[in-house]
Amino acid sequence: MGRAFRYVIIGGGVAAGYAALEFTKKGLSHGELCIISDEPVAPYERPALSKGFLLPEAPARLPGFHTCVGANEERLTPNWYKKHGIELILGTRVESANVRRKTLLTTMGETITYEFLIIATGSRAVKLEEIGINGSEAENVCYLRDLADATKLVNVMQKCRNGDAIVIGGGYIGMECAASLVINKINVSMVFPGPYCMSRLFTPKIASYYEDFYKSKGVNFIKGTSVSSLVFNSEGKITGANLKDGRQLPADLIIVGIGARPNTNLFTGQLTFEKGGIKVNSQLQSSNPSVYAVGDVASFPVKFYGDSRRVEHVDAARRTARHAVSAIMDPKNTPGFDYLPFFYSRVFSLSWRFYGDNVGEVVHFGDFNGTKFGALWRSNGCLVGCFLEGGGDDDYVAIAKAVRDKATVADLGELETAGLGFAVEVNRKPPLSPPVCGGGLKKPVYVLCATSAFVVAVFAYWYGSRLL
Ligand code: FAD
Repeated sequence: MGRAFRYVIIGGGVAAGYAALEFTKKGLSHGELCIISDEPVAPYERPALSKGFLLPEAPARLPGFHTCVGANEERLTPNWYKKHGIELILGTRVESANVRRKTLLTTMGETITYEFLIIATGSRAVKLEEIGINGSEAENVCYLRDLADATKLVNVMQKCRNGDAIVIGGGYIGMECAASLVINKINVSMVFPGPYCMSRLFTPKIASYYEDFYKSKGVNFIKGTSVSSLVFNSEGKITGANLKDGRQLPADLIIVGIGARPNTNLFTGQLTFEKGGIKVNSQLQSSNPSVYAVGDVASFPVKFYGDSRRVEHVDAARRTARHAVSAIMDPKNTPGFDYLPFFYSRVFSLSWRFYGDNVGEVVHFGDFNGTKFGALWRSNGCLVGCFLEGGGDDDYVAIAKAVRDKATVADLGELETAGLGFAVEVNRKPPLSPPVCGGGLKKPVYVLCATSAFVVAVFAYWYGSRLL
């Protein structure tokens, strides 16, 4: 049994949805594209799973958050795929791939051939067993990667109102889940080995703000230690956790947020890898010219960083997906992918954004006792990163542009004093001479065009992402 398609996407997550939309915009014909996903539903906005989906009142549910509502684009329901003649093969895993023969073998025993392949297999959650702890299969141990995980988590939460939860991990998933547990009236202890939460991105000062906020909502932070084992009752349910420092905590629910790994196994030994992902060029094309990789699995050149990175964030998934499709269908008019790294999160009444890189010297600004504050990073005399909590749309547009332009920062003290005003001010002043730090854009007209396009893109993104 077998079928042949011109374009095949493996994986039915964020990147697949945005790629599908881009294909149709570029003139896809009926029957040309096939998406194979092991999830049973059409592509959706994954960030909704740790936000709107977990709310006790008016929770987000499909079909409400199918892609591409997060970027304020069309919502692609299963009917949309049908209407555009796109074959959605759901609930089906690709078991093996042969890039030399251009074939894929699915768990249904079907062989699918392609002319162009887009790998969009995303990541998987790291399991407790991978750090030497048993218990992943218990009915009250939850992960949060896909719709099935989120549905299980909601069911377990509903059964343990006013009970105790332990969140293992102090990163993105841990922080967003802890907030949702509080909103669901569950007592939360967060356990992680680091000195403060979100330590890959936050400074100690920023982390301290969020930890104090969480504490004011009743969250108990247990830092500098980790879970050594889980405690089971006779029915195999978890009743608590032992910590390495000798303490034991009670638990009706455990949420595990200890990291993710890219799903790249299908291509080991067939494509070139880099930084744990599939190495692609600035057109998202892998070492095999017929194969592209996008989203979490792609290790792509980020001009802003000056090297290749894998970026496990939704904005990168959306943009790499669109770019790969453009590179496949309209190569002559598709310049190299130029990406400004961007991450965000929303919990409780808080909402932050980060643009660029958190390297070099950092200064803080704003009111850390209030609701609007942030940090700016300078490296080699240039602004390279900005974190902002509680900004308005104008602020986000300003910082994104100042960071993208790598505005020159002569004096760190002045940067600290000016804070957010620095970004606003540098955007107001057109550069008198070619930028020292970044850019390469020398003619004012290019600057104007690029700036306008960028401002529009940032605003469109901001507007759309408020929905999730
Ligand atoms: P995914 O969206 O993970 O999709 C991959 C798809 O491929 C899945 O459907 C998977 O089942 C399928 N698949 C994998 N292997 C196979 C196979 N062999 N055969 C068939 N199908 C396969 N980022 C942010 O920037 N901000 C946020 O607030 C944020 N919140 C998040 C909340 C949660 C709960 C999670 C899990 C992630 C969040 N992220 C966030 C990260 C963001 O969602 C990911 O970076 C993004 O989804 C990556 O898109 P992708 O298409 O590469 O992979």
